[in-house]
Amino acid sequence: MQPRSAEERRAELVQLYREAESCARCPLSKTRTRVVFGAGNADADLMFVGEAPGMHEDQQGLPFVGRAGQLLNKLLEEIGLSREEVFIANVLQSRPPGNRDPQPDEIDACKPFLHRKVELIEPKVLCTLGNFSTKLLTRSQRGITSVHGKPQVHELGGRLLRVYPLFHPAAALRSTNTLEDLRADFARLPALLEEPPPVPIGAVATVVAVAAAQPAEPTPPTLFD
Ligand code: URA
Repeated sequence: MQPRSAEERRAELVQLYREAESCARCPLSKTRTRVVFGAGNADADLMFVGEAPGMHEDQQGLPFVGRAGQLLNKLLEEIGLSREEVFIANVLQSRPPGNRDPQPDEIDACKPFLHRKVELIEPKVLCTLGNFSTKLLTRSQRGITSVHGKPQVHELGGRLLRVYPLFHPAAALRSTNTLEDLRADFARLPALLEEPPPVPIGAVATVVAVAAAQPAEPTPPTLFD
């Protein structure tokens, strides 16, 4: 695929937003007030993916604007970042009634939107917040308690990137231990953003094979006995 400029990708993201606004691929379209597409920097190095909009998000059409969002803002601030520098989205774009768990058919219906967002934003690091986004984007059933704070390399949106699972801020609001873990995991984000892009396994194997095929360096003559 041809590389696209940040402006081209942003324009396509706006088009995707228009599509999402009228999406009726799942029954949540009948009960939602507003679609919550996601918000932030369309060319962000860091992207967050939460679970689903709650009451405040549904009313405002913006992600993470309630108490969990305030905590997310604070944690970002503590590592020298602001919301304007990152992009925040969710597994679901519509609020499940009563904030119940997302259902498999709803996740499936919304998934193409999420993958397209990742493709267009091209983040270096994608933080999954909580179990739903972690299991979806790592394509694994391993839960957040065992995988949080451990970066994984995955192909998403046609590129290799680092997926960094984190506890959901709403869980951190309910438990001091979880908040401490979340804060410690956040503290490792700036270094993770500085890492060079992940290299495909095949490319590493090729480099190793090429290096192995090189003739060995001639032994320098001994100058002194
Ligand atoms: N929780 C989420 O997962 N997403 C939001 O947007 C708000 C709360």
